[in-house]
This record gives sequence, structure tokens and C-alpha cells, in this order.
Amino acid sequence: MSTTEWTRRTFFKNAAAAGIAAAAGPALLQASRAAADTQGAGTFEKIALTNVRVFDGRGLTDPRTVVIDNGRIGFSPLGAKTIDAKGATLLPGLIDAHVHLEDVGTLEQLTGYGVTTALDMACWPPSLVNSLRHRTGLTDIRSAGIPAAAPGSVESRLPGFPQSELVTGPDQAQRFVTARVAEGSDYIKLIVDIPGLDQATLDALAAAAHAYGKLVMAHATSSAAVDEALLAGADMIHHVPLDTALTTATAARYLSGKRVSVPTLTMMEGFAALGIPGLSYAAARDSVGILHQAGVRILAGTDSNHKQGIPVQPAFGTSLHHELELLVQAGLGTVEALRAATILPAQSFGLPDRGVISTGYRADLVLVDGDPTADIRATRNIQRIWAGGIEYSPAA
Ligand SMILES: [Zn+2]
Repeated sequence: MSTTEWTRRTFFKNAAAAGIAAAAGPALLQASRAAADTQGAGTFEKIALTNVRVFDGRGLTDPRTVVIDNGRIGFSPLGAKTIDAKGATLLPGLIDAHVHLEDVGTLEQLTGYGVTTALDMACWPPSLVNSLRHRTGLTDIRSAGIPAAAPGSVESRLPGFPQSELVTGPDQAQRFVTARVAEGSDYIKLIVDIPGLDQATLDALAAAAHAYGKLVMAHATSSAAVDEALLAGADMIHHVPLDTALTTATAARYLSGKRVSVPTLTMMEGFAALGIPGLSYAAARDSVGILHQAGVRILAGTDSNHKQGIPVQPAFGTSLHHELELLVQAGLGTVEALRAATILPAQSFGLPDRGVISTGYRADLVLVDGDPTADIRATRNIQRIWAGGIEYSPAA
């Protein structure tokens, strides 16, 4: 056996044993609890936020006035209550491109850290996902719902995973995708490793998803899995390899196929810290640097989860601020990191009403002290938050 093959086998075995977070599936009990909870308590109030420097996707503007009116960025301050921001920085509400929702408490945590949009990458049952949608005044979500996973995968052993939805071959692809679309999945998630679906099955699932106009998300935490995901035509590849850094040739394949990377460095850092042989955070960090240098689009995602059986559980909301810091350490500029959590995920996920602060857009806003384009850690200094135009108290 070659060294590479040994590393690959050891990686899969160890990753499977440790249970890399491919998903977080909540219990039915939590679903009913979430449904019983009240929605965000705030109300729409017309606000004129004066003397505020706005992050416009390139840098900070001179101080200006931003109007919040009936859930949107308004035009006229007439009749608004004035709040003097005293030169603080206004960011578009942050977007976490990889979470696993659990209950309404996870939404509240996200909102309290300025994460006003969360893109869930596997959550079940569908009734729970639906109970978390459209919660006025809280984080707005999209979800993959049930992911495509192989029998024997880590995913399949997570509590409550619907065994009837496991995918055993390419002939099941159409049925699987049709069922997810009927349930309301916003995109289709494929588990490529730990161990995962074979190439023919991945290809068939991706083709079926694309035929429905759905984006394809791939979970891939090794170099071999990334190759399979690229071959299958996945639109976004989540995680970066922990075994060896991506090569420039692989980065060029991302770029030519317009594939997007969601590295989840927070999760990769946590996994590498477990001390599993063959896994290194340096491989993950270097992969981000190589992808970034090649010009590949990178989105901020954390893999936040509360899943029993998953040894690394990044905290909802606060971990996105850590992810921004890790992305900067991996080579992104501060403006690029901020874009990775605002305009870029909005574009990549087809959410045209958010990601920038402009008239008519959702009033998803985070007011912070200091200048995060000078020091990315300033995103943590949250003064005020609006989710869909409703103010929410920052977490302590
Ligand atoms: Zn995940």
C-alpha cells in the first residue's frame, strides 16, 4: 500500500470514528418545542441612523444616514426616530453559509451575534426545518433538509436520521431529489466522504438536482473527496481537506467550473485539535490560501451544530466572527472576509434582497464599534442589531 493510500484509508477510518460533522439532526421533541416558542418580540419602528459609516463592499463610506422602514432600508427619514451612531460602522447582516440548526434557541443565538441569515446544510425532520422558517425578527434561514448519505456513513448513524432516505446507488437519485424538492429543500446536500456515495451516485444526484434548478452542496474533507465533488459538478464544496492541501491544479478546476468554496476553517481547526493522526489544520489553512490566490470565491461558514456524536461543536453566531479571523489569517483581506459573509453568499445562494446596505434591501444590519476593515476582530464589538428591520439585543 502506498503512503498516500495509507493516509487516505487512515483518514477515512479516523474521520468516521470521530464523526466529522456532516449534519445535525434534531429530535422531534425539540421540533415541538421550537414550534411552541414565540417569535422575535420586537416591532417595526422607523429609524434614521445618523452619522454612520457604511461598509459598501469595498470599504467604509463617510458618515451618512441610513433609514430603516418597515423591514427594509428606506429612503426618507421623515417621521423616523433618530439614533446618532456617533461614527460607528454599519455592516450588512452577516450570513453564515454552513450551520446545522437545532431549535429556535439556535436562531436566537445567531441573531444575537449579528448573523441575520443562516444557510443550513442538513437538518431534519422537514417539519422542524419549516418551523424555523420566517421567524419575524430572527435569523432568516434556508436549508438542505435531509442530506444524501450512504448506508454506513457517519451521517446515517446520527440520532434520528431517516434510514429510509439513505441512498444506495444512482438509480435512487431521482427519487431522493424529488422527495427533497417536495419537502421544500432550498438546495441539495451530498455527503461525499466519511465514507460516502460513489462517483456514479454523486453524478446522478447532482444531475437530478440541477434538473430541478437546485444548487448542489458537497461535503468533502479530504483531497480525494474534493476531486469526486468537482467531477460530479457540485456548485459549492464545503470544508477543505485536512489530509493534504489542495494543489494549484485543483484550485484551477474550482475556478474554471465557477465552484465556490465554504472552507469552515472553524470546524477544521477544531477537528485538527482532536489530534487525529494524518489530519492537520495547516492543510486546511493552506488550501484556503491556494484557492484564494487562484481567484476562487470563498464564503464564510462555521459548521455550528449541537449534535450528539459530533466531537466539535462551534457555537452558533459567535463562531462566525472567529471564522472571519481565520479567513484573514489564511490570506484573505479584511474587505474580502467581510464580503465572504455578506454580498458573496447572497449572490451565490440567489438571495437578491440582502448582503448590501441599499434602498429597498432587507434591513438586516449590524452596528459595530471600530473599523473591521482595519481589524477584522472589530465585528465582535456589536452595539445594535436589526433582523428584517426589527431590533434585537446583542448577546452579552
Ligand atoms: Zn456540516
